[in-house]
Amino acid sequence: MPQQSETSSTDSLIVNVDLAERSYDIRICSDQLSSVGSSVAEWLDKRLGASSTQQSALVVTDRNVLAHANVVRSSLEAVGFRVELAELEPGERTKSLPVISSLYERMVEMKADRRTVVVAVGGGVIGDASGFLAATYNRGVPFVQVPTTLLSDVDSSVGGKVGVNLAAAKNLIGAFYQPLGVFIDTSVLATLPDRDYRSGLAEVVKYGVILDAGFFEFLEQNVDGINARESSVLRHIIARSCELKAMVVKEDEYERTGLRAVLNYGHTYAHAFEALAGYGELLHGEAVSIGMLYASRLAEKRGLIDAAMTARQRKLLEQIGALTALPDPAAFSTEDILSKMRLDKKTVGGQLRFILPTKMGHVTTFADIPEADVTAVVDEFAAG
Ligand code: NAD
Repeated sequence: MPQQSETSSTDSLIVNVDLAERSYDIRICSDQLSSVGSSVAEWLDKRLGASSTQQSALVVTDRNVLAHANVVRSSLEAVGFRVELAELEPGERTKSLPVISSLYERMVEMKADRRTVVVAVGGGVIGDASGFLAATYNRGVPFVQVPTTLLSDVDSSVGGKVGVNLAAAKNLIGAFYQPLGVFIDTSVLATLPDRDYRSGLAEVVKYGVILDAGFFEFLEQNVDGINARESSVLRHIIARSCELKAMVVKEDEYERTGLRAVLNYGHTYAHAFEALAGYGELLHGEAVSIGMLYASRLAEKRGLIDAAMTARQRKLLEQIGALTALPDPAAFSTEDILSKMRLDKKTVGGQLRFILPTKMGHVTTFADIPEADVTAVVDEFAAG
């Protein structure tokens, strides 16, 4: 079990991701972004025995979070780093090989070496792309994440998956590459658009359903604090989500044993919705939010849970403003949804796999669900 502990500062939390020599800390705090430089220096010292004096850093960010990235830049400079900043276009298209190639050139120009640290300041797009840059430049340079979306706080910055898209498929090119550390300051979420915030919350709810009934209850009891983006509530839900994901990643770091698949609750339906809507139309967390309800209904049909369990998830998702239905549930045909599901890279030998709840806080993988049940759920939602 990863440890969550209070640091000396009154309200910072540390979640340790326990992966042998690749272990690292996630520091979760509020209103402390200007101290990120000290954390980066500390992590470098610990891992590489390298002092930050005379050391260089490339801060990678996008236009929408430039103000936060500039705070990170100043903080790194204050502890002795020579810093360059690369500002990328916001959006999924930035996760591409041409963008990575331009960043390689930039690192050559700044005479980056094996000790140059790449610091990602942004959401999952910046984190995934920068992590891929760090994993591949000079066969691997130190990498630190400073996530700025709720989704990147609780999902993409934990577990070491980095990569870029090809036209043929999302996230097809990539690596498993763990950072030296992750610095999460909840105050940066104040500028996050509402839609992105609500989309990230769906992943938080997912952790409760799949792994922790008590955490799900905490969310139910703290709806007002969640909606108000209260710092203390945010620190707790981010820390617990990171802890739960870290626990799963520790058991199946390279996605080999199938254990990591529990994180895909709602994703079999969600990936089909995302693909059919066109990537970017439906945010990932929005698709997951809706997909969880479809999967939960499927579990009901299989006699695994009762209707109250789906109703409980729907109520919480509604209360926190997450999507609970497709904008037009009849827009995609049942056959289209099924064929997208069959193409999903998480299917094994063409067999659809579903992660379904058996009770609050527990899920199981099923590879033997009759397609008739899968499509019956789609038809039900389409009928409204
Ligand atoms: P994103 O990085 O595109 O960020 C969403 C939008 O919010 C962008 O326009 C961004 O500029 C803006 N933004 C970010 N932080 C902001 C802030 N604090 N204030 C104002 N604007 C802000 O999207 P995302 O949802 O964070 O991440 C999605 C990406 O994450 C996808 O590419 C997905 O494949 C990837 N992902 C990776 C993993 C993983 O394990 N590596 C897991 C889940 C998702």
